Amino acid sequence: MNKQRKNAGGRGIEWTDWTWNPTAGCMHGCTWKMPDGSIAECYAKKIAEGLARAAYPQGFEHHYWREHTLQEPLKEKTPSKIFVGSMADLFGHWTPAEQIRQVLDVMRQAHWHTFQTLSKYPIRLPEFNPFPSNVWVGVSLPAGHLMSETGGARALKSYLKQMTKIEAGIRFMSVEPLWFDASRVFQEWLETNESLPF
Ligand code: SF4
Repeated sequence: MNKQRKNAGGRGIEWTDWTWNPTAGCMHGCTWKMPDGSIAECYAKKIAEGLARAAYPQGFEHHYWREHTLQEPLKEKTPSKIFVGSMADLFGHWTPAEQIRQVLDVMRQAHWHTFQTLSKYPIRLPEFNPFPSNVWVGVSLPAGHLMSETGGARALKSYLKQMTKIEAGIRFMSVEPLWFDASRVFQEWLETNESLPF
């Protein structure tokens, strides 16, 4: 696991204490259109093909199973927030279900920690219901640089629907960058549903 440095000047992720990557690599191929019109790629791909190149001999768009890291959360005794898959999508369509179940088992055993997951493939999440009570299950809206505002709104609607099928104590959503008016979609949702599914 990697400790996240959050002090001034630290380059860690602010909302977690550790990152843990029992699986690594990702095939979603996310890209973003930047305000100046340039196209940005995901940070994980940059790291995997730059500084951490030795750990990704087959490139970033490949599935790596790091079984030797499975016990790491059990060795950390201080209750911590642990982001699972900062260099992967654990629930990506390419990850064998048996590997996901092994990771979830470790989360269940390490009950003193809070695990945070984030997936761009929410259609698969209900397969692992119910999630351990110490896991926050997050979905992240895809933001391909060619996706229109209408496409974004449509994807958000379908993600909200998908989230209602996930059995987890805490569900959360990431929409980043926010390139369309999501509030209208939330408003519409609340007209026919009692609350948002997170
Ligand atoms: S899902 Fe995450 S890790 Fe995968 S390509 Fe997109 S931003 Fe990168």
